[in-house]
Amino acid sequence: MKRKNQIRRVLFLFILFSVCLNAQNEPIALSGVNLWHNGSFTPNRTVLIEKGIIKEIYETGAKKLIDSVKEIDLKGHYIIPGLIDTHVHMGMGNRALPRSPDTARLEFKRWIYSGVTSVRDMGGDARLLAYENRLIFRNENPGPEVYFSSTFGGNDMMDKDIRMKIITQGVEMENAGWTQRATPEMDVKLSVTLAKGSLVSGIKFYAGIDADLIKEITEEAHKQGLKSWGHLTVFPNRPIEVIEAGVDVVSHVWGAFWQDEDVDPTKRIPFTHTNFNNARTAIYPADLSNLNADSPELKMLLDEMVKRNVIWDINYSVYNTKMHDLYRAYAMAASNAGVMLSTGTDYYNDITDPYPTVFKEIEDLVIDGILTTAQVLEAATLNGAKAIGIENTHGTIEKGKIANLVVLRKNPIEDIKSIRAIEFTMKNGNIFYRKDYK
Ligand SMILES: [Zn+2]
Repeated sequence: MKRKNQIRRVLFLFILFSVCLNAQNEPIALSGVNLWHNGSFTPNRTVLIEKGIIKEIYETGAKKLIDSVKEIDLKGHYIIPGLIDTHVHMGMGNRALPRSPDTARLEFKRWIYSGVTSVRDMGGDARLLAYENRLIFRNENPGPEVYFSSTFGGNDMMDKDIRMKIITQGVEMENAGWTQRATPEMDVKLSVTLAKGSLVSGIKFYAGIDADLIKEITEEAHKQGLKSWGHLTVFPNRPIEVIEAGVDVVSHVWGAFWQDEDVDPTKRIPFTHTNFNNARTAIYPADLSNLNADSPELKMLLDEMVKRNVIWDINYSVYNTKMHDLYRAYAMAASNAGVMLSTGTDYYNDITDPYPTVFKEIEDLVIDGILTTAQVLEAATLNGAKAIGIENTHGTIEKGKIANLVVLRKNPIEDIKSIRAIEFTMKNGNIFYRKDYK
């Protein structure tokens, strides 16, 4: 009898679960809307969404909707793809999951209600990130899709960096696929396989790895379907050597400083960083006045990035008060050279601010004249998807793609600050109305 009850309870839960899944899958038509695609808005479109996928796009009125479709009239509104922040740290740091899951969940929530549908986490505890990502996927917590990385570093980093210890608590570091020691003696295939097994989307090269080894690991990562992500400051290499090693994405505007012939990256060995402040002082050249954004070395670096389609997750708006002019000169040089930029932030504003930091990144790139509004929308969507490696399913609003998008009340092409005029975010077909954000 007891067993029968148990079976009945399981059956009930199963049905409830199926109903929940179906509820979010009712077909939706967004009609009469201005649709962003390939650099401009097309007016009066209907976007038909079923089971979280974009089924069809056509001129509103060209086809009759069947009764089961829920129609949302969006006349006078603008749809852009979901925004992507390509540089976050939810898996590491004081405000992130290992220390403060509640604070991290507030950030997840702020992101999704602000139109951010995917983020790329740049090093952290994969166990926690995978767990949160599952809660988000099941709609138990609001948030974006979270893609994350495995941090690869040399001996110095793995032995001394306190952050590596925090994110591997409870396991031997060697067995934690999300933090791997990169040395000439390593078993490259095994390390990359362990990384993949920890559900990451890419390898992040952090510090103290020779370019030859970056190349070998990158080739294995690509073979196993993972991305290769790095900084321009993986010492002892010059930035160009990191690019030539075949990485897909590099982070931080300041990394390019080290391409200048007046600074010697090998002086940063060993790259000891036992805490975050220590790491930060290690990454800026001692004398910034030597740097020259017009140098032939920088031009060579940027041209190589263009040739290889490397994305620069430039983190332009981070800590930019003192460094603003220099950052701007480097970012302008990149834009003029045609380097593909993505909008990563690498910092957090106060959680009481209604919008996350990616808004400042997007707006500053336009306000400072580095990208046009059309270019920045591509940087914040399609380029972000390419950085993560999900451009076949994300990053644009097209038939067959995942329904991740943002509905705006104003035209962002006329004023980039209109990205704040959010009506709702849609992620996998689920709607998050901005007015419900508390
Ligand atoms: Zn970072």
